[in-house]
Amino acid sequence: MTAPMMRFGAIVQISEILELTSDSPEREWLLYEATDDQLVELNNYLNSINSISDKNFGKEAIDAWMAAGEVDFEEQIIYTTNMKECVKDIIKKMLNDQEYIDLGEMPAFVKEELNLTGYILKIFNQSDKYNLIFDVKNLPPNDDGQRVNANTDPKRDPNDQIIINFTITLDSDYISNSTDLSVARTIIHESLHAYTSYIYQEEMFSNLSNSLRTLLSANNNDPNTAQHILMTQQFVSAISNSLESWDNSSLVNHEYYNYLSWSGAMLGTTAFDDLDQNTQQAIEDANIAEGSALSPATGQAQGTNNCN
Ligand SMILES: [Zn+2]
Repeated sequence: MTAPMMRFGAIVQISEILELTSDSPEREWLLYEATDDQLVELNNYLNSINSISDKNFGKEAIDAWMAAGEVDFEEQIIYTTNMKECVKDIIKKMLNDQEYIDLGEMPAFVKEELNLTGYILKIFNQSDKYNLIFDVKNLPPNDDGQRVNANTDPKRDPNDQIIINFTITLDSDYISNSTDLSVARTIIHESLHAYTSYIYQEEMFSNLSNSLRTLLSANNNDPNTAQHILMTQQFVSAISNSLESWDNSSLVNHEYYNYLSWSGAMLGTTAFDDLDQNTQQAIEDANIAEGSALSPATGQAQGTNNCN
């Protein structure tokens, strides 16, 4: 598609489907900056879609490209321009992982379906209103002045108030300090933050939403605290099993996946304090060994460091 008329034809078609006005920045970008490959990819995508969700994603894709990001049309995931290949590889492996795992308190039909992160990413893929964006940047310390490995931030799309973008941001130092095993665990953990927020918005009366509501009112409506307590109550084995499944059960000591399933603010909960002393120590040791935003992985690490 090098002839100008073909470019223009594709742009007209894309603009019609996405209802782009002729003076919109997206239309300008399509006309003057989009590559032929991008036009072909977007046009093919839009010709194959059948829902509002897919259409909305088409718009998000243009915005992502305008910001020099990368678009995975098949999984409907956007990677910002800061994203690193090694992290993308970890996410892609999660998406392809079809192992069955135990999802704890979740309904039986879910248990039988997919791994946790695969399942969560699929929800976002199918949703009309929610998009998932992965980013890497230097994260500021939290309110307690501690470095954080990652965070998940839901925000309304500036161009479309109906759409909520969940941006999962991994700290740059964390990425270069840590093993793939740690990064995979953190992606599972962060996708759970996105998942619980999503369920709370979309399935108000589900068991999960009821549990979260109770925890919110007991914790000054702080979603972060409530979600971490919920993780300790309902998702420890799901995180552990998802991680083990992602890692193809390669570790001799399977307990290690359990240790790593505890991370970040989960270690500040009473549920953590209630674990026996040896387990607490093993969890802290595993988290230090695999690396964090604060310090590099050690010789004790079980995973490999691919991102430095
Ligand atoms: Zn967290």
